[in-house]
Amino acid sequence: MKEFGFELRVCAWAERHWQPSGDGRVLVARQLGTRSRRWDTVIIETTETALTQRAAFGPERLDSDLLFVAQHAPTGWDYYRDCLPDPGYPWRYVRESIHRAADRGFIETRRDGNRIEIRRRYRYPDWVDRIVAIENKPDLDASAARRLAEQLEHDVALGLADEVWLATNTTGDDIEPALLEAMPVDVGILAVDADGIHAERVWNPRTLDASSPGVRPTDRCDGRIDFEYADADWKQRKRLEIAERAYERGWRSYAETMRPDCRHFELRDPAGPFPWCAAKEREPTATECSGRCVDFEPEPPAWRSKEWPLSGGPGRAVSQLLDRKRQRRR
Ligand code: SF4
Repeated sequence: MKEFGFELRVCAWAERHWQPSGDGRVLVARQLGTRSRRWDTVIIETTETALTQRAAFGPERLDSDLLFVAQHAPTGWDYYRDCLPDPGYPWRYVRESIHRAADRGFIETRRDGNRIEIRRRYRYPDWVDRIVAIENKPDLDASAARRLAEQLEHDVALGLADEVWLATNTTGDDIEPALLEAMPVDVGILAVDADGIHAERVWNPRTLDASSPGVRPTDRCDGRIDFEYADADWKQRKRLEIAERAYERGWRSYAETMRPDCRHFELRDPAGPFPWCAAKEREPTATECSGRCVDFEPEPPAWRSKEWPLSGGPGRAVSQLLDRKRQRRR
């Protein structure tokens, strides 16, 4: 199975079967991380109550500037420069964020002469309990394992996620081959069936200390890797930014980068649903399903009448279906 299809199945499995502590809830997303490191699958552990409180801020993510305002806006009216901490960059950018926050409806603004005063409408909740990062490698051969082991060691050293896992295909062997490779012992190993319905935890990870400083690689040159110190505040900010992106996107956002408006695009498998290409008679990858695909054919205009909504044909209906499923998970 191609990595993209495997990735979707790991996401679907995690959404159904991942067990957060207590009566928690999970949000699952794909391809999130930092500028220098993206994880294939990210699980955010949270609670129903925290999700309800987060919902007051709308379905779109809060970027780092909006988070700054949301976390520091006061309960009563105050001049913004008096109540917000020094941002470390020009205040005019903060004013811009204040206007965006007011447009989003989670703060209010008023003028006192030239001064802009603000107050919050909702308290930004502490809604992220844990972050779990999963690297997917369905066909793990020795050379792929060597490359991955180095990346996973860096993930452990940074400790941005609370747990790091490697997901690979179940082989049915007595000992899963991933266990025989030189993976860091802190990393968990998940063996996932080809259908993505079953998965077995064949090695449990160590819980990392996400609240302490870590180290991250900054540069690679001639086999040499430079590292820099990542302080605890930086990690907390990044974790929240990752969680916010996961909240907005979920894992079904693949329709936004693929071509559901192609006449050959279908959704199959109620477990997903997962994309299917009728022209190639297989699951397309996210890269090949684009306007550059040689088999791409826009859906005929006639499909946009009859039973389909006038605003679009089957492609539009596919996007709406995936969007509805994403909203239900929040
Ligand atoms: S033909 Fe190409 S663009 Fe159309 S669904 Fe298949 S992969 Fe996607």
